[in-house]
Amino acid sequence: MKNLEISRIFHSIAQILEIKGENIFRIRAYERAALALEGIDNIEDYANEDKLTDIPGIGQDLAAKIKEYLSSGKISYFEDLKEEIPEGILELLKVPSIGPKTAKLLYEKLKIKNISMLEKFAKEGKLLGLEGVKEKTVENILKGIAIVKRGSERLDIASACEIADRFIKELNSLKEVKRIEVAGSLRRMKETVKDIDILAISGKPQKVMDAFCGCGEVKEITAKGITKSSVLSKDGTQVDLRVVKADSFGAALMYFTGSKSHNIKLRTLAVRKGWKINEYGVFSVKTKKCLASKTEEEIYDLLGMRYIEPELREDTGEIEAALKNKLPKLIQLNDIKGDLHVHSNYSDGKNTIAEIAQACKSKGYEYVAVSDHSEALKVAGGLSLSDLKRKKNEIDKLNKKMKNFVIFYGSEIEIDSSGNLDYNNAILQEFDFVIAAIHSGFKQSKEQLTRRIVKACRNPNVDIIAHPTGRLWGTRDSYELDFEEVFKAAKDTNTALEINGFPNRLDLADTLIRAAKEKGVKFAIDTDSHMTEHLDYMKFGVAMARRGWLQKEDVVNTLSLKQILKFKK
Ligand SMILES: [Zn+2]
Ligand SMILES: [Zn+2]
Repeated sequence: MKNLEISRIFHSIAQILEIKGENIFRIRAYERAALALEGIDNIEDYANEDKLTDIPGIGQDLAAKIKEYLSSGKISYFEDLKEEIPEGILELLKVPSIGPKTAKLLYEKLKIKNISMLEKFAKEGKLLGLEGVKEKTVENILKGIAIVKRGSERLDIASACEIADRFIKELNSLKEVKRIEVAGSLRRMKETVKDIDILAISGKPQKVMDAFCGCGEVKEITAKGITKSSVLSKDGTQVDLRVVKADSFGAALMYFTGSKSHNIKLRTLAVRKGWKINEYGVFSVKTKKCLASKTEEEIYDLLGMRYIEPELREDTGEIEAALKNKLPKLIQLNDIKGDLHVHSNYSDGKNTIAEIAQACKSKGYEYVAVSDHSEALKVAGGLSLSDLKRKKNEIDKLNKKMKNFVIFYGSEIEIDSSGNLDYNNAILQEFDFVIAAIHSGFKQSKEQLTRRIVKACRNPNVDIIAHPTGRLWGTRDSYELDFEEVFKAAKDTNTALEINGFPNRLDLADTLIRAAKEKGVKFAIDTDSHMTEHLDYMKFGVAMARRGWLQKEDVVNTLSLKQILKFKK
């Protein structure tokens, strides 16, 4: 994802300029551009069509820098800037909780030059006593280090799907491949994955292996066998392919989908019946006869249980539920009737409201809420009161023209540091949908943060709490919340909690979704789109909902247009 690489560089430029004490407007310009680029995943298309300046916050100067990076892999201005700052400081700035001031301090006072040194100093308590460094600061630094480490070890679900799709597409074109599926944690739709497992049926495995190792996506072949090979993709992700016979495909798919603990429990059940399960099938120990192997359904059936969807296979009660025929009927992508969190070009999105409406309509949706940022979020083009008027007028006009589709006038409202909302209640009442969100003050105490969200839930105009825990994969961990209290407030006030499908958010997380559901909370699955292409992220939001055991009834935006108007406060 080139956009993220450039975004990171712009962010670093802003930080270096800050260390150098440069003009605050220049610093902000780079920060704003970095933020905008996070949401642009086809940056090359923009460059090819000479449309980089269409991206909010990108002027001629930054467009030229983006082009330079796309053609040469470098931005010379950044390379020059780096020369002016000690390398150690730049390294420390990679830790999300460390700002320019702290990095400088750590480097100059303690001569800390890299992340492993920083970790050591933090653990040994040697950072305490430094100006402005308290125990909480050290705690945050250690958390930040963990985030950097994890971010480099695992791949987000969207990138993993993209890579897997490219391999599968290429292999699927072979006549020797009879069937091909993703297995492993990607099939279970875990929020991040370590590697990608692919399983194929073929009578000519050698041909398939040759094609796999010769794929355009391959950077390096790490192992090549007759029925199994491993490669590194161009971005360094490990991809494994196994070729199996049609007869044992179900057993293999189950075996390689996992999870490990799910499979262990199934094996234990089988042993009690005098059977054994492996990647080739279920066999009678006595007669060695194969009892089931072709499909997963057949195997679950033999074991006396309903088919278990891959997203549930984590050994968190799904086997027990399947045995009692008590599995939930999981929500599906086509249950979704609309997206309630989409940004237009009124704030930091790329598309016009008309374009968004058209894209949502062609997805088969009945409605969309265009929920731009509120005034206080300046870096993301928050809307002033006069902007709001213009926007409302435009939506009214469009709605008169559209058939079988409604655009809701929405907003993503800042929850300030004491839990108050950005616009007053008279303005909030005007909106069809109000989504409240925290974008600042993440370092407050658990009590303070909880109070802010609870207070927002209690506001009679707030319908949804967006990305409730604020995490950003590889950049920021969730802030601390007392979930018991948040869930209770959401339930009591009929406020939906969002499942944000944007791949670096996926917030709420699956385990929290399930815990909230048990308390009777309702959910909204949204994409937080900043361009119409992002609307496809709905599938990741739905995947998290499925991992959280949700059914259609738990999610408000599965409601038809008529019904959802009743849900609104
Ligand atoms: Zn937001
Ligand atoms: Zn948003």
